[in-house]
Amino acid sequence: MTLGLKGWRPAFAKLAELLFFPSFCRICRALLEKPGEKVVCNSCLNKIKPHSSPFCLSCGRFFDAQGKPHLCAACIRSRPAFSYHRSFSLYQGILKDTILLYKYQKYKVLGRLLARLVYQGLKKDDRLWWGVEVIIPVPLHPARKKARGFNQSRVLARELGEIANIGIIERVLVKHVNVPPQTTLTARERKKNIKGAFKVRDKAKIKNKTILLLDDVFTTGATIQECSAVLINAGAKEVRGITVAQA
Ligand SMILES: [Zn+2]
Ligand SMILES: [Zn+2]
Repeated sequence: MTLGLKGWRPAFAKLAELLFFPSFCRICRALLEKPGEKVVCNSCLNKIKPHSSPFCLSCGRFFDAQGKPHLCAACIRSRPAFSYHRSFSLYQGILKDTILLYKYQKYKVLGRLLARLVYQGLKKDDRLWWGVEVIIPVPLHPARKKARGFNQSRVLARELGEIANIGIIERVLVKHVNVPPQTTLTARERKKNIKGAFKVRDKAKIKNKTILLLDDVFTTGATIQECSAVLINAGAKEVRGITVAQA
């Protein structure tokens, strides 16, 4: 029997999939056999849940203790440039492993799964979504993007925009100074390090807009704060933040 070109295509697609995606879950090592399973198995993904503790009504920082929603001490001292921020969950366990696989092992396919989780977990928060006109991903400096191969926040923003039916604006907020990575710095150093690193290239595109700023991980909030301040100074009406996880 000879296979026509058409017959080869599915076989080639399967081969390509095996080449690009491991056939075992990169977290629990189970065989990936269910339809649509890629890189991380459904059983691991199902263990990722939104974090349910109370959080600051401004910066979105999760509180350890139970109690009524309120502002955290830092936001009472000085309100951030963004009006509201929410993280889907905590940066730990399977969610952290999945973000690391996505970001550093370049499994871009996980971007869609993460965006879907974030949307499912936060879609009921009207304060976050009400009146949002556009999603803007936190940009990477071009040199960093080249080294990493892709901007993890941009891919997430595209996926989230598609799911939530909101347009995204790319290459308007840009990182024009390649500052050292924030990961090794203290909160105070992070704030100083990131200052002046971003700029808005085309102010008309964001003028009077209500923007949802997206990043993968929220640590001290210095990046979201600096990007929001730059967007507000450039004429944005309001900036809210959304992140996958909070460290
Ligand atoms: Zn697994
Ligand atoms: Zn706060």
